[in-house]
Amino acid sequence: MPEGAPERGLWAAGGIDRGWVLASETAALDIVGAEVVRDVEPGEIVVLEAGREPRSIRFAEPHHALCVFELIYFGRPDSYMEGRNLYEARRRMGMQLAREQPAEADIVVPVPDTGAPAAAGFAEVAGLPYREGMVRNRYTGRTFIEPSQAMRQRGVNVKLSPLREVIRGRRLVVVDDSIVRGTTTKQIVSLLRRAGAAEVHLRISAPPIYHPCFYGIDTQIETELIAARLSIDEIRDFVGADSLGYLSIKGVLSALELPYERFCFACFDGNYPVPVPYDAHHRKFLLEADEARWRRPGTAPPAERGPAIRRRPRARQLGEPIAHRG
Ligand code: SF4
Repeated sequence: MPEGAPERGLWAAGGIDRGWVLASETAALDIVGAEVVRDVEPGEIVVLEAGREPRSIRFAEPHHALCVFELIYFGRPDSYMEGRNLYEARRRMGMQLAREQPAEADIVVPVPDTGAPAAAGFAEVAGLPYREGMVRNRYTGRTFIEPSQAMRQRGVNVKLSPLREVIRGRRLVVVDDSIVRGTTTKQIVSLLRRAGAAEVHLRISAPPIYHPCFYGIDTQIETELIAARLSIDEIRDFVGADSLGYLSIKGVLSALELPYERFCFACFDGNYPVPVPYDAHHRKFLLEADEARWRRPGTAPPAERGPAIRRRPRARQLGEPIAHRG
């Protein structure tokens, strides 16, 4: 903790010339040489002013609902969130995935780079060798946030090359951290088969994504989410895998050793911690539904009938089985 900082200090502090730094990930603090002091709490504003100690302003009651996707995929593996190192958290998710969704195979292959920690954990529990079966071109971006389908399709071929010596004739467990639209996964499975894989057993270290994110993550609308449209069997067939298994919500929590209430799991279970104009049970945007209704003759527009924004009950049960083996 830097000189002059309060005993129960604030936020991320220190750095090259003893300033104060706020960042969304601890990895950013490491880069500038700052020391982690504590997290900014939900409902708290931190004010930094030149020549003054940081001030903490409480503007709302704390309501913890951290995006669990930060721990599954978005955050850097060297970052810490909720007291957990994200590499370790993901490795433990892979371990749990191997317990929930075992597979008969010869080797465990990660989808680079983000599937690697979970694949390492899977291999550890399954007692299978961990092998890199694909090489990533480091000069291309993340596929699923690229804007067009054509660009995404070109993206996989540019991004990944198979290691044929590793893959040929082997039964693979391929571990990835998510399936959003399914198009990238399909291309990866095809790439592995063309390289001679005998079998491809796909294992995902997160639950299926059924619902859109209203909080800023570009997963698009639900019609673009493959799990919102297809059953697990149909997804397996669409991507061309021999089997497909996902980690359950309960499994994610077990790997994190943290309670459900700490996180937002809304894109997995439809339980939005902040109300949104969406009916998770029927997977419908309420404003769209309302608009269709008020267009019928004799029906008042939604503005005259009060708000349609409400919280919905959870759409899926914790630990519900989410797998299919071929
Ligand atoms: S809906 Fe999903 S992506 Fe969006 S904040 Fe919640 S967990 Fe994260």
